Amino acid sequence: MGKPLIAGNWKMHGTAESALTLAAQLNQYRFQENAAEMIIFPPLVHISAVSAVLADSSIALGAQNVSQYSNGAYTGEVSGEMLLDQGCKYVLVGHSERRAVMGESSQVVAEKFRAAQNAGLIPILCVGETLEQRHAGKTLEVVAKQIDAVIDLVGLNKVIQAVIAYEPVWAIGTGETASPQQAQQVHSAIRTQLGEAGQATTLLYGGSVNASNAAELFEQLDIDGGLVGGASLEADKFLKIAQLVEA
Ligand code: PEP
Repeated sequence: MGKPLIAGNWKMHGTAESALTLAAQLNQYRFQENAAEMIIFPPLVHISAVSAVLADSSIALGAQNVSQYSNGAYTGEVSGEMLLDQGCKYVLVGHSERRAVMGESSQVVAEKFRAAQNAGLIPILCVGETLEQRHAGKTLEVVAKQIDAVIDLVGLNKVIQAVIAYEPVWAIGTGETASPQQAQQVHSAIRTQLGEAGQATTLLYGGSVNASNAAELFEQLDIDGGLVGGASLEADKFLKIAQLVEA
């Protein structure tokens, strides 16, 4: 079992005003001492303002993307050090939308993972199969390869210090969720891949998690929490899900 976490990926949604309102609403909630750590991932342009709202908060801040480079002539990119400087603790790497829409290869994802850790951020490595790959019986192979690409670059000892989120591509933003058994099967395979040292690595499930399906998913042996997209955009919905993570 890893440390319980609940992460909210706001994707490219919201104005400065709505981001601040949502952060402030979440921040008003009094978390129990043993509650799962909550992380929010606002759009980059709102990070600094949200960071100010979360000063002294138990809610952690994360970014949705990071450059694989540490500095230099990379117009439009943001380095891990810059994110750390803005109060980020975590960063998503390898989200399926970045792999599919932005064409990030497993090699680039691995480089971003390395850059994040080198800067002092905790990467949340997202992995998952497409529907086609699942139907072809390749789920475990695809996920293992995505993780191996990172292990090959940084080594297993670095990977086990991060967080891994299993997010089947066909379940992201579709309203379709992996069954608790499907999700547990993949989480258990990831746990095995990480070996003895990875027993305490935090493994999250993501893909259309909501207040109705979260409890059964989070009850699974190798699921330590969730990465939530759509349902993290409303404070009451996200807080309900957060309360279902077993601390
Ligand atoms: C995500 O963005 O990582 C995600 C899981 O989205 P959703 O919960 O909307 O499927």
